[in-house]
Amino acid sequence: MINECINELVAYGLKRGLVDPADEVYVTNRLLELFRLTEHDGVVEQVQPRKLSQILNDMLEYAYQQGMLEEQTVTEKDLFDTKIMGELTPPPSVVRRQFFEKYNISPKTATDFYYQFSQATNYIRTDRIAKDEKWAADTEFGEIDITINLSKPEKDPRDIAKAGKAKKSGYPSCLLCKENEGYAGHLSHPARQNHRIIPITLCGEKYNLQYSPYVYYNEHCIIFNDKHIPMKIDKAVFAKLLDFVRQFPHYTAGSNADLPIVGGSILSHDHFQGGGYEFAMAKAPYEMEFSLKQFLDIHAGIVKWPMSVIRLQGENTESIVKAVDHILMLWRRYTDEKAFIFSETNGVPHNTITPIARKKGNLFELDLVLRNNITTEEFPMGVYHPHPEYHHIKKENIGLIEVMGLAVLPARLQKEMAELERRILNKENLWESDLTKLHAEWAEKWMPNYEITDDNIHAIVQKEIGIVFAKVLECAGVYKRTPEGKAAFQRFLDCI
Ligand SMILES: [Zn+2]
Repeated sequence: MINECINELVAYGLKRGLVDPADEVYVTNRLLELFRLTEHDGVVEQVQPRKLSQILNDMLEYAYQQGMLEEQTVTEKDLFDTKIMGELTPPPSVVRRQFFEKYNISPKTATDFYYQFSQATNYIRTDRIAKDEKWAADTEFGEIDITINLSKPEKDPRDIAKAGKAKKSGYPSCLLCKENEGYAGHLSHPARQNHRIIPITLCGEKYNLQYSPYVYYNEHCIIFNDKHIPMKIDKAVFAKLLDFVRQFPHYTAGSNADLPIVGGSILSHDHFQGGGYEFAMAKAPYEMEFSLKQFLDIHAGIVKWPMSVIRLQGENTESIVKAVDHILMLWRRYTDEKAFIFSETNGVPHNTITPIARKKGNLFELDLVLRNNITTEEFPMGVYHPHPEYHHIKKENIGLIEVMGLAVLPARLQKEMAELERRILNKENLWESDLTKLHAEWAEKWMPNYEITDDNIHAIVQKEIGIVFAKVLECAGVYKRTPEGKAAFQRFLDCI
């Protein structure tokens, strides 16, 4: 059985362009060694490979029976099947050469190749991503995307116990570091033998390109500093984002803010995120336009979006960078007590920006989302953060991806919503189940608005979650969409 699997996997590698025909025997022998075999039979060319996940599952089963895996936990299996895929994955030098050859045809040809490659190697586990629940919800701000993320495996307690006993190492320093390329991993760090990164240069500085293994949206890429240095939003970041969309005009690129609560989950390694997906925010129009006295070649305005967004457009990136830097400097030290905006309290800074860059024809576009991370006794998790009445759906930070209009919601929601739907249909009390009691107050508010049936309940729940997410984004907006909020936003614009 294992022999057939090896032949199938090599055939898969040939078909997906991972294995060069010249390397067929070599790769077969590497796989035999991995499975501690010395004999081989069968002809690879005659094999029609099954789906990759089926081949790997059979190989994992064999490895377990042979004692090569201690337990069949997700972590142990992931470590082992990545090692298998590592044998099929060409070295970085080969992948980079292919990427840049294709880049010379067009940037899109290069990223198309690299995205297909990252899936073929199973670095992006497409079978797992397919489990995510995704839908679009109509809101007054356009179609907002929602995903319940089910592809990040939950840790098995057996692995947590073992990882706890293992010696901690600082190599690689984090999940983004370039030292992950080809790394074998261990119980508390994923294996990356099948991972290849592409070096790029942004404004003369070394960065690398890779896709997110969890691809929250189409071609979700990460652009990370060659060195493990902390995130910082400054003038250079704006220039680098624009330089990225100049080199990859079919991609968008943004950065998380550099302060806790309003930033992303990894602040310790300088990185941006981008991709080939058009978010609702990119389609959102100007709500109000104005000119910048010092930068007359730039078109500026406020975007119709639940958060507070200034959009700048122009052909000259240098001019945009100067204008943005000017706005960032003003915003960092801006206080408006009446609007509850404090640049700092007790010496701790609160104001920052989430920037997002795009290219539209000849125009470069930069959206600046004004952020503030102040906390109070009433809102210990943040004043401009999802408020407690929405925590049953979303209580995590509103990072770059959410800002752009994609809600990444926790896996628990799938079970909870299924139970909620079941109870509503059967007219059972929502307060009596641990899965639904947190959602009861919310559901009882909208239930009377619908003629609920078996057929429409799921769509209704999805739509209502979309409405909550738009509210959550409004919570994160420093200026509310009220006459007072708009007047306060205008006071800031008057300073620019
Ligand atoms: Zn790092």
